Amino acid sequence: MPVQDIGRLDGLTYPTGVAYMAGQFMPISEARISVLDWGILHSDATYDTVHVWKGKFFRLDLHIARFRRSLARLRLNVPFSDDELSHILVECVKRSGLRDAYVEMLCTRGISPTFSRDPRDAINQFVAFAVPFGSVANARQLKEGLHLHLIDDVRRIPPESVDPQIKNYHWLDLVTALFKGYDAGAENVIVKCTDGSVAEGPGFNVFIVCDGALHTPDHGVLHGITRQTVFDLADAAGLRAHTGKISESQLRNADEVFITSTAGGIMPVARLNDTMIGDGTPGPVTRALFEAYWARHDDPAWSLAVDYGDEVG
Ligand code: PLP
Repeated sequence: MPVQDIGRLDGLTYPTGVAYMAGQFMPISEARISVLDWGILHSDATYDTVHVWKGKFFRLDLHIARFRRSLARLRLNVPFSDDELSHILVECVKRSGLRDAYVEMLCTRGISPTFSRDPRDAINQFVAFAVPFGSVANARQLKEGLHLHLIDDVRRIPPESVDPQIKNYHWLDLVTALFKGYDAGAENVIVKCTDGSVAEGPGFNVFIVCDGALHTPDHGVLHGITRQTVFDLADAAGLRAHTGKISESQLRNADEVFITSTAGGIMPVARLNDTMIGDGTPGPVTRALFEAYWARHDDPAWSLAVDYGDEVG
């Protein structure tokens, strides 16, 4: 029997899924972190998210490598080799039975047994889980393109304060922006850097297409694995891809705009505030990259099949 469930706990309903923590696999509803964990009290944690599509992990090696870099920069320690990490994640998915999954590995600073204020006293805590795949864009938005709002008065946390290459839970700027975007009638938001150039959104990178070439910000954003995948796909297709600052007017006047995330892949943008992007429908470059992206999920060089055994159908 897989350990998956649709758990109910303290009146809350949980998604189906399986977690691993403290040496054990368990239904996601049973995976809990102490309120005294530095991860909760100070956002002192890092994480990475990979997805499984039709029973295959996509670019798991790149996600584990980025997780390692984030851990090292925060001086966090996870007592597993890459193979062991990979095994734990595969096992979460296998036990959940999920064919399309959102799979997260995270490490918090943990609890200091004496509640001391010295982070070196804390015992780092590793957690992994697999839950159903979730996307930034729903099916209609993927087909027709998203309506985004470019936020002016909440700026992305600058890299001098929090290194965006450490994948982190410092999301108050992004969540505050998201509420402002909803208030403005949009479906999601793009946030600017402190210098006014385009940064990123809640869990995604931003690309523009101008005269057939791709452009995406380099500074002050997470270097997403999907962003890297777009570079790889562009290279294979002979498309030029540039990294560097993007101004608000370049964004508004782009031929095409799309966003990228493990949670959804390559997602077209049709409208920014009151401006239509291109003709207001997903453009040809975005559509071609979208097709190539999902086709590559079957490429053994970029994917890892989960062996579900006989446990689930
Ligand atoms: N930017 C931020 C702030 C993110 O949190 C994420 C993913 O969660 C991304 C960009 C996209 O990164 P990836 O393509 O690796 O999912």
